[in-house]
Amino acid sequence: MSATQPPIQHGIAEELRKRGFRFTPQRHFILEALSAAHGHCTAEQIFEVVRVYAPGINLATVYRNLDFLLRQDLVTSATIKDNQVIYELRTAVPHHHLVCQRCDATLELPHAVIAPAFRRIRDDLGFDVSTNHIVFFGMCAHCREGTHAGTMII
Ligand SMILES: [Zn+2]
Ligand SMILES: [Zn+2]
Repeated sequence: MSATQPPIQHGIAEELRKRGFRFTPQRHFILEALSAAHGHCTAEQIFEVVRVYAPGINLATVYRNLDFLLRQDLVTSATIKDNQVIYELRTAVPHHHLVCQRCDATLELPHAVIAPAFRRIRDDLGFDVSTNHIVFFGMCAHCREGTHAGTMII
C-alpha cells in the first residue's frame, strides 16, 4: 500500500471535510480496503483487512463507519443471498446485480439497461429514483438450460 492516497480516497477525504466530518483513521482504512477490493466485500472481509493496519479496531466499529459512509452516499450496499450485505465504493456510473438463486452466480448489470425504466418513472410519475444499486434475483442462463458442467440439475 503506497503512502499516497489514491485519487478516489483523496476526493472522499475532501468531501467529508467539506461536509464538516472528520476523515478518521478508521474511515481511511475502511475506504482503503474497499478501494483495494475493486468490487464488493462484506463487513467481515473489510474487518479482516483493516485489523492488520488498525489492531485495536473491532467489527462493530467497522459496521458503524460503514453505516456512516452509506448515509454520506460515499459507499453503496446491497443485500444478496441469505441477507448477506455487501459493500463497495460508490462509483460514478451505477451498476446493479443479477443473483442466481440456484447456483449463487452473480452477474453485473450495467445501469444503462434499466436507466430507461428510471426515466419513465420520472416522466410518468414525477418520481426521481435515487436507488443506485439493485439486486435482482432469478435464475441464470446455465441453470435455466441445465448446462452447468458436472452439475446434475433435477
Ligand atoms: Zn455492486
Ligand atoms: Zn445459476
